Amino acid sequence: MSRVRLQTLIDRSVRNMGAVHNVIRESTIEMIKRAYGEEINVQISSGFRSYADQTRIYNQGRTSPGNIVTNAKAGYSNHNFGVAIDYFLTSHDGSEAIWTVNAQWRRVAAIGKQLGFSWGGDWTSFKDFPHLQMTGGLSTAQMRAGQRPNLKMNFTPTKVEDVNTEIGGNRVMGDEPSILTPNGSVHIRAAQTFANSRDYPTRAKANFKTLVVDGFAGPLTNNALIRIYQYFANVTIDGKYGPRSKRAANTLRRGTASQWWVRLLQSSLNAKGYKLSIDGSFGTATENAVISFQRSRNINVDGVAGPNTWGQLFR
Ligand SMILES: [Zn+2]
Repeated sequence: MSRVRLQTLIDRSVRNMGAVHNVIRESTIEMIKRAYGEEINVQISSGFRSYADQTRIYNQGRTSPGNIVTNAKAGYSNHNFGVAIDYFLTSHDGSEAIWTVNAQWRRVAAIGKQLGFSWGGDWTSFKDFPHLQMTGGLSTAQMRAGQRPNLKMNFTPTKVEDVNTEIGGNRVMGDEPSILTPNGSVHIRAAQTFANSRDYPTRAKANFKTLVVDGFAGPLTNNALIRIYQYFANVTIDGKYGPRSKRAANTLRRGTASQWWVRLLQSSLNAKGYKLSIDGSFGTATENAVISFQRSRNINVDGVAGPNTWGQLFR
């Protein structure tokens, strides 16, 4: 039985992490490589969770079947802000998950800490052994209020071909971003493709850098979507959703005919983890996504995207 390829562990992990902060993603990949070089197979089970995802798992064991898996409501987990991941070990061939907190498990945590993570296994009140996070000193309250940590990579990425172990069958990894490109969320890729369409990056001084379509929604994607909003709303394009932007909001509801506004709404929802077709048609799927999003943000739940919903989408 041959050992699971490093690239396989990385690919699965990137898929499971979803739209985490770029530094979290790169640091996690580095942790997987370093562990692999020490004969430890590690894989990521979870990373970014939308508020809707968090609500769903919070409800598990409370209002829906299953065991309780989290005590954090939507907005109270660092996973909701893309700055936390959970890991586990795999069997030699990568086919089975291993959740035993053994010496190898602790070694992965140590590697993670070298890379700047803090580890849930070090917590005193409630130990969360799979959990690693980088909050840059921010609390979830600060992140709920819209702040994001200014994280920096404190290492030089190891090349896959330089990992010292049996690499049989591994593809050579080129530049990190190009190999990562196919692995992001297709729905976020669709949102980014929308943002790059129709000359939006330069049109009417919308003037954002053409987005890398990588399927990972971060501050650049958010900023581009705000600027398109401001372009549509005919207000000053500064990438900040302030009072003027709010006053100029186009309120969208089921059946609305403003197809480009609807595409922007669908793209903005996808950037928050929803999975809509960006087709410009405000039907049931879009309405349900708006309802779910409004519920997750504790704003008026009516399925109509008005000033407050837009405001939350651009946080
Ligand atoms: Zn976690």
